[in-house]
Order: sequence, then C-alpha cells, then structure tokens
Amino acid sequence: VFKDVDMAPPVAVFNLTARYKEDKDPAKVNLGVGAYRTDEGKPWVLPVVRTVESQMAADSTLDHEYLPIAGLKTFTEAATRLALGDDSPALLQNRAGGFQALSGTGALRLGIDFLSRFGKSKTVYVSDPTWPNHMAIGRDAHFTEIKKYRYWDDKTKALNIDGMLEDLRNAPEHSVVILHGCAHNPTGVDPKKEQWEQIAEVMAAKKLFPFFDIAYQGFATGDLDADASSVRLFVKKEFELFVSQSFSKNFGLYNERVGNLAIVTQDNDSLMRVQSQLEKLARPMWSNPPNHGARIVATTLNNPSLFAEWKEAIRTMSSRVISMRALLKQKLKQLNTPGSWDHITDQIGMFSYTGLTSKQVDFIIQKYHVYLMQDGRINMCAVTNSNCDHIAAAIHDAVTS
Ligand code: PLP
Repeated sequence: VFKDVDMAPPVAVFNLTARYKEDKDPAKVNLGVGAYRTDEGKPWVLPVVRTVESQMAADSTLDHEYLPIAGLKTFTEAATRLALGDDSPALLQNRAGGFQALSGTGALRLGIDFLSRFGKSKTVYVSDPTWPNHMAIGRDAHFTEIKKYRYWDDKTKALNIDGMLEDLRNAPEHSVVILHGCAHNPTGVDPKKEQWEQIAEVMAAKKLFPFFDIAYQGFATGDLDADASSVRLFVKKEFELFVSQSFSKNFGLYNERVGNLAIVTQDNDSLMRVQSQLEKLARPMWSNPPNHGARIVATTLNNPSLFAEWKEAIRTMSSRVISMRALLKQKLKQLNTPGSWDHITDQIGMFSYTGLTSKQVDFIIQKYHVYLMQDGRINMCAVTNSNCDHIAAAIHDAVTS
C-alpha cells in the first residue's frame, strides 16, 4: 500500500518555519507564520487567558466529559453574537446560530462540505490572492470549479474593486464566494464601506452565497464591532450566509483550535435543519470538538470584566502592529529605498504585502536570514524595535541590488 505513495510537497508556511529553526544565524527573523509576537519577539499568552486558565484549574466542578457534537453552547452563542452584534436582526429573529469547529480552518471546511452537499452550485470563488488553504478546502470538498475574483492591483498596491465587481457579475448564479471579513490575508487591504455595499449589491443580483472568513476580528482596527461591519452589512441586507470564526489570533489560542461556524438563515426552521445536517457531517470527522480553548473564550466573552480585559489585550496587539508598520516605513524612507512604502502603513491587520518579488525574497532569506513568504507577505507582528533595522536593511539591499 505505502510503497506507491508519492511524496507530497511541503506546506509553504510550515516549511519556512522549519528552515528558520534550522538556521544558526543569530540575526535570523521569522516573518512567515501569522502569529503575534511581543516586542521581545516572543509568543504572548494573553493575561486574560492566564486568569481564566487558573480559575479553571482551581474549579473542581469542571470535568472532561464529551461536549455535544455542535460544541459548547455558551461558546457558540457568544461567538455568534461577537460576529453578528448583540442587536443583530438575525439573532433577534432566532434565525442565526453557531456550530463549534476545529478553529477557523475547521469551520471553513465544515461549511464548505455542507455547501458541497446541499448548496446549489459546485463553484467557489476565492480572492486573488488569498490564503492558500481556501483553494485546498474547496478542492477537498469536491467543488468542481475553484475560481478567483480579482482583488489586488499590483500597480496601485490597492483593491481592484472594478475587477472584483466584474468577476462577481460574471459568476454563475448561486456560486459560493469566500470573502475575508476584515484584515485580508495576504494583502492587508479591505474594501471600504461603500465598496462592501457594491459587492453586496452584485452578490444579491447574482444570488451568490457569501461565506465570510473572519480570522482576524480585532486585528484590523482594534475594534471588534468595526471589524465585523462587513458581515453585519450582509446580514442587514438579508443574505443567508456562513461565517467561519477563528480565535487563534485574537485570543492567541493557536494550538487549541477554537472556532465557530456562524450560520444565518431566513428563518428558525431552516437554522434547525442546517444545524442538524452539520451534526451529521461533524460526527464522522471529529465527532465532537475540544473543550479547553472554547471554555476559555466562552468564559471571557460572557463575563463583562474579563471581556474588557480581553479588549485591552486586543488593543495592545493591534497598536503594536500599527507602530511597527510606521517604524518599518520610516526606516525604509531613511535609507532612501526606491519606491513608495506608503502601502506598509495603508494596509491593515497582521500582514503586509510588500510587493517584493520572489527573487528578492530568496535574496533576503539567503543573505539576511530574514524569512518571509515567497509572495512577499510579511507578518508585521514579528517586526520589533530591535530587528526593524535589520529587516529594513535587507529590503533595501534586495530592492537596490
Ligand atoms: N482564514 C485565514 C484567512 C487565515 O489566515 C487563517 C490562519 O492563518 C485561518 C482562516 C484559520 O486559522 P485557524 O485554523 O488557526 O483558526
């Protein structure tokens, strides 16, 4: 059985981290993987997470019994409210609910699997460029066509809204469209409010199904409500939709796999039927989800003072990213690096899409031991006051060589 199995190519972002770990150079920097780092370059366990974990450790009433297939109710309800807003018409009308999944990836996979079985189209649209897993998830869920809508304009280093709208206008009816709710990965460029309105208008006309991926709520602006405004606009316009939510980034719970698939339907009866079918899909995959991270998130979201503490931590993370954007741009300007580096500060969220070519990326990795994605994406959270000079020097050298 095994001798005929081909070797699969490595997953780019994990491969980059493995190369970084093997590198012995003391000046090495990993700008690849999308995880928050402190100004000392260290992972950060949020203080509120530590607080809740110690409360949990001391609570002898908690046990390790199985969760229901749909997950921890206090978590899915609070997560869904976080995405849709307390005053969401869909929540007030009892036609929105959640389903716990293995982080954002699991929520996407579950939702796409559902649409592959019950949706009206086998075509899924993803932004060009996008997080590569969107394509892989569509393929593995047996979507026959995985198409790209134009998104990034290389020349203006901004959103190609006309191209995006045209591609959506030309999409077959009922196609599924994956939309990044905020802090687009990898470009860091989001549509403005009026542009979201235009996108919604085209999608309604073509009966396209919006599948929001919101993996960075809080990271775009530091404001949880503002970052969910795209999703809420579509709910207000009475779309039925899915939202995959991840708590990896905004809670720093990367390895706990805490995610929710928020579901908005036209009525309560549809919601019940969809949730029942999701149970049938989840049961043979993971049977029931893990509890630890979901309990941390539920406890925090459902307690006003812990919630306030969490919001403070989000502000700490998002403002550090903003200040590192300003610092990197300032260093490149000081070096007189050719080109406008305004896009570094114009872009939002965790990533900057630098515009560096694949050749320049190789040069930077080899000569400076600064590891970044082949498409020029850098994780701004890994830039620090201590390594910024080194990163700017590497970019300058690559651009001017
Ligand atoms: N969606 C996007 C756009 C992402 O960048 C990521 C993670 O990098 C995810 C979803 C899913 O992350 P996780 O599975 O850790 O929640």
